[in-house]
Amino acid sequence: MDRRVFGVETEFAALHRPASGRGLPPDELARYLFRPVVDFGRSSNIFIPNGARLYLDVGSHPEYATSECADLMDLIAADRAGEVIMHDLAVWTEKRIAEDGFDGQVYLLKNNVDSAGNSYGSHENYLIPRTTHFRRLSGILLPFLITRQIIAGAGRVVPADEKQPAHFAFSQRADHMWEGISSATTRSRPIINTRDEPHADAASHRRLHVIVGDSNMSSTTSLLRYGSTDLVLRMIEAGVPIGDFELENPIGAIRHISHDLTGTAAVRIRGGEESTAVEIQQGLLDRAKRFVAEHGAHHEHVERILQLWERTLEAVRTGDHSLIDTEIDWAIKKRLIEEIADQRGIGLDHPRMEQIDMAYHDVHPERGLFYLLRRRGRAQEILTEDQVTEAMITPPQTRAAIRGEFLSTARAFGAEYTVDWVHHKLTDRPLEALMLKDPFATTDERVESLLEKLGDRNQLRERSLQQRQADSVSLALTDRFEADESTQDLVQFP
Ligand code: ATP
Ligand code: MG
Ligand code: MG
Repeated sequence: MDRRVFGVETEFAALHRPASGRGLPPDELARYLFRPVVDFGRSSNIFIPNGARLYLDVGSHPEYATSECADLMDLIAADRAGEVIMHDLAVWTEKRIAEDGFDGQVYLLKNNVDSAGNSYGSHENYLIPRTTHFRRLSGILLPFLITRQIIAGAGRVVPADEKQPAHFAFSQRADHMWEGISSATTRSRPIINTRDEPHADAASHRRLHVIVGDSNMSSTTSLLRYGSTDLVLRMIEAGVPIGDFELENPIGAIRHISHDLTGTAAVRIRGGEESTAVEIQQGLLDRAKRFVAEHGAHHEHVERILQLWERTLEAVRTGDHSLIDTEIDWAIKKRLIEEIADQRGIGLDHPRMEQIDMAYHDVHPERGLFYLLRRRGRAQEILTEDQVTEAMITPPQTRAAIRGEFLSTARAFGAEYTVDWVHHKLTDRPLEALMLKDPFATTDERVESLLEKLGDRNQLRERSLQQRQADSVSLALTDRFEADESTQDLVQFP
């Protein structure tokens, strides 16, 4: 495929920590968090002006699903915009619960495990041609995804248990995956979910749904994660020979690999040979480099992705993690953890360490440790503040642009509407419900004609723009503040 659309869904953990005693129970806290959302769309499952979906399952983790993006930088900006929007909801909630007599702070964490052992996800979506042979796809993609944690894992302090001492692992999610491929998500938690909802023309496309990833804070790690996966998919789609890395026991392997920072843990390839995560990744990287040399780079970040991929494998192979400790989440986090352990003379088994791990994922711009490290130059950034602010209110140049325009226009004219990834309907014109199956389309005559029932074209455009501004103010609630580093106490959380 020459062009692809991508989307990422992030589930957040929400916590309330009062000065003393117990915090609000999760479902009550979630209800507070989503009040502005419900005010906006009279539902806890809404699409917002930038084309994204905000969603709350009963009593569970608030989710932000980015709109479909055709450009990796748009995707990374859209994902970061979700962090800011979630933070805004947390700030709003803190104020509201204070008015209702509850003190304390509200934390929103973009991570994948809580201290009770629950896991929540970061799901990737890739548009692929339906002609892709599924057996071949899974044969290559599964070993890639199982080993991808060494280049894109978020890192995790694993507390001691009966079997092993406290230690640092590549991945948050690895221990929570139960099978390779399946059509169920909650019951079985597969690495690749095959539920067939393409949100596109089902005759020509599928939406590949990858459930295994860790939530990334670092945008350079995100670029490597999505960029490398896209390259592997391109090779599969092009039908080039890639080699056989299929693993005998995918779930045993993913766990084994996560807990071995040397990258040398042996995993068995189907057919009997043994290999390691570094070798499997290196094999795929070498193939990708050859593929790019032969076919050319299909976007401007390909070279950067290949270089970072190479350097990350070298860092794991040599144990010199300083090669990547401003670019790859697990290494950025590990350096911080080790420094604190040294400074305070505590080991990984100290309860503070788990707290620091969580605080790395705190989306509060001042308090969150990833953001703090970034301000101190210890985490690289490829997005500008403006790109993120823009992504909060403006859809990317895909079908999301039509969705954004549609919902802002309907809202501007007070028209009842329903919208999802594909459908567009003005409630009082049920017979004119429109399906947009092409996720790359940025305009649609039928949608424009439908909207023209509300007013003339120029008027529509102006009013929808005004509405978008107003809506973004009502959803984005904080006064954005400058960080004051002197107030930081690294181990304040929670
Ligand atoms: P749920 O989370 O409720 O189980 P779901 O898996 O269908 O449902 P959503 O949360 O609705 O997922 O998110 C769908 C994701 O897929 C979004 O990030 C969106 O941008 C992306 N997406 C939409 N259309 C396509 C497409 N045609 N191809 C790939 N990704 C798409
Ligand atoms: Mg979802
Ligand atoms: Mg999903």
